[in-house]
Amino acid sequence: MYQLCDKMKNLVPYEPIAGSYQIRLDANESYFSLPDTMKQKISDMLQAAPLNRYPDPYAEQLCAAFAARYGLDPQYVTAGNGSDELISIITATLLEKDARILTFSHDFSMYRFYGDIYEKQVFVLDKRDDLTLDIDLAIQTVKENQIEMVIFSNPCNPTSIGIGREDVRKLIRATDALVVLDEAYMDFWDQSLLSEAADYDNLIILRTCSKLVGLAGLRLGFAVAGPVITRALRAAKSPYNVNTISQKIGAMVLSDGSYLDRCADSLLASKVLLMQALRERAAQYPDLLTEIYNSCTNFVFLRTPAAKEIFEALKKRSIVIRYFGDALRITAGSPEENAALLDAMDTIFADLSAQ
Ligand SMILES: *Cc1c(COP(=O)(O)O)cnc(C)c1O
Repeated sequence: MYQLCDKMKNLVPYEPIAGSYQIRLDANESYFSLPDTMKQKISDMLQAAPLNRYPDPYAEQLCAAFAARYGLDPQYVTAGNGSDELISIITATLLEKDARILTFSHDFSMYRFYGDIYEKQVFVLDKRDDLTLDIDLAIQTVKENQIEMVIFSNPCNPTSIGIGREDVRKLIRATDALVVLDEAYMDFWDQSLLSEAADYDNLIILRTCSKLVGLAGLRLGFAVAGPVITRALRAAKSPYNVNTISQKIGAMVLSDGSYLDRCADSLLASKVLLMQALRERAAQYPDLLTEIYNSCTNFVFLRTPAAKEIFEALKKRSIVIRYFGDALRITAGSPEENAALLDAMDTIFADLSAQ
């Protein structure tokens, strides 16, 4: 009888929230769906798409559109089926067997997940109490433990906190370890290292179309790195990892810079309003909302001793957010979604503080 190997018996799956809810503020997606003019173009594209043929293995048009948007040379860009796939490929193929990987806590849980699946040794360094990263301690940890890859998000999911460019450079320059810098939310902040990605031989920057670009359903991510790493990634990925439809739609949306800029302005404005509204509630209920962190992203991270109760009470009202022990992460939604959320929260806070 076949027995699962031990690592799979013990694997804790990543469990995204499933089911249908009226308001989804749990996954940091954009609340914009594509404008009708773009949808019409997509219909036309679908009619003409040669689906009996394999896609372009190097997604050249798509990578060119991405590179143009961010002012990069396309030769340093590799497309993935979501940046998730790229994290998987990097962890599986760019390191020796049993290599030591460093991640931080809190940070994106998929880093650890792939580290475990590919049987790497995963080291986790805790952040400070205020959730900022001690860069010097990170560097020291890399050196003391012969770490071969450091992977983290900047700005961070779930804390929403950003690390300044100079600190990230310091880490990259202090080590020969591979640094995987996940800039999934950098469209909402201004401390990107994209323009210098290819200047280092130990850096990979990841970007995604799942957040600002509003194409989470399409699955598109990018790795930007120097020539040696880029060659390796292209060789290691499965040949047709990004399908024809995703390539075409992604290229179209990424080429519309003014549309993306307007999306960024609206998403950020929504975040600012949500943050202000939550700060007002924190002033009213200081025992319930104990900390609201400054956000460099399109979501808000807050600490509360009633995280579980608030999460469950919102879910009963068909509003989902993310719950982390003593904290909550809330994606900034459309004005209507934010209003519904705050309305529900007011009732929930009044109930909780009356107990
Ligand atoms: C959402 C997110 C991603 C995006 O993953 P995709 O597979 O491209 O959808 C990557 N990293 C972080 C930290 C994220 O929050």
